[in-house]
Amino acid sequence: MTGAVEVVAGVDIGGTTTQVVLCAADLRVVDRVAVPTPAAEGGGAMTDAALDAVRLLLGRTAARLLGVGVGAAGVVDARAGRILVASDSFRDWAGFPVTAAVQEGLGVPAYLDNDVNAFLRGEAVGGAAAGEPHVLGMTLGTGVGGALWLDGRLYDGPHGAAGEIGHVPGFGDLPCTCGGRGHLETLASGRAIAARYAERVAGSEVEGVDRAGPPERAEEAGRGQLPGRVRESGQGRGADRAVGLREAEAGGRAGEVRPALSARAVAELAARGDQDALAVFEAAGVAVARAVLVTAGLLDVTSCVVGGGVSRAWSLLEPPLLAALAAEPPVSGHPVRVRPALLGDDAVAIGAAARARAELGVGSRV
Ligand SMILES: [Zn+2]
Repeated sequence: MTGAVEVVAGVDIGGTTTQVVLCAADLRVVDRVAVPTPAAEGGGAMTDAALDAVRLLLGRTAARLLGVGVGAAGVVDARAGRILVASDSFRDWAGFPVTAAVQEGLGVPAYLDNDVNAFLRGEAVGGAAAGEPHVLGMTLGTGVGGALWLDGRLYDGPHGAAGEIGHVPGFGDLPCTCGGRGHLETLASGRAIAARYAERVAGSEVEGVDRAGPPERAEEAGRGQLPGRVRESGQGRGADRAVGLREAEAGGRAGEVRPALSARAVAELAARGDQDALAVFEAAGVAVARAVLVTAGLLDVTSCVVGGGVSRAWSLLEPPLLAALAAEPPVSGHPVRVRPALLGDDAVAIGAAARARAELGVGSRV
C-alpha cells in the first residue's frame, strides 16, 4: 500500500454524454469531466471513451484508483456486469460486457448498474435522501424511471426491474411508449407533458377557444432539446429514457397530436399562468403523488426523490403533488417526504461510484 489518496471513479454512460467523476472515500467529488458518448460506434468505442475520460482525470491527480462503478441506460445485469437490453440509439451495446472491459482497461474492479438505480443510490447515499433507509427514486425524463432503496440498500428484484413505477397501470387510459396503457409515464414524462399539452391546445382550437399562439416553438431550440447540456442527471429509464428532457419524439401513432412545444416550453408557459400548461403539470404532479402513495402503501417507504428534467419544474409539480399526498395519507399514518434530487448532473456517476465504494468496502458505510 502506498500513502496516496484513494479514489473511486463513477461513470454515467448516457445517450449523448458520458459523465465521469472521481470520488474520495467519503464520496466527495474531487474531479469530473463530461465527454460525448460515441453511441453509434458501438460498445467498445463507448467504453473506450469512458476509460479515456477516467484516465484523463487520473492524470490530473496523484490519487490511486481503487475501482470503477458504471451506470448505464437500459436493462443491465448488475451481477454479471453486462448490458441486457439497450435502445436502438446504442449500437452493439446489448450484450456488451461492460465491467470486463473496464477491468481490463484500468486494472481495477468494476461494477455496473442501471442508471436509475445508480441515480437513487447517489441520492440515498449523498443527496436528497442522504442516510434514509427506505426511499423511492423516480426520474421524470423523456420517460419515467423508478428504483427502490429498502433497508439501506438497493433492491432491484430478480429481473433488475423492481421499482419501475413508470410502467404500472392505474394512471388513466392513455397509450404508453412501452405498449401498455394508463401508465405513469403517459402523464409525467417530458414526452407526455409535451403531448398532453399539444392535445389540450388542439382541443381548444377545435372548440374555437381564442388563445394566443405559443411564444416559443420547440424547433427553435434545436428540436426542443434543452440548451447547453442535453444529458441530464438520472433521467427516465429503459432504453433511451436516460437522456434528458427532450422534445417529444412526436408522431408515429394514428390520431396523435404532434407536440409543437417541448416540456420545458410548456413549463415556461405554466409559470406564466397558461391554464392548459398548468393543467398538464397538475395532472403530472397528482400522478406522481399517486405513484408515491401506491409505493408507500406497498413498501412503507418514507421518502421519495424525484429527478430528471421534468423535476426542474418543481415549483409547478410540488403544489398538486403535496395536495394529493395530503388528501390520501398512507395507512401507516406517516406522511411521505417527496423532494427533488440534489446531485444534478452528477447523480448517476456518484451513485455508480458509491456502488464501487460499497463493493470494495471503502469508506465507513454505504
Ligand atoms: Zn408504459
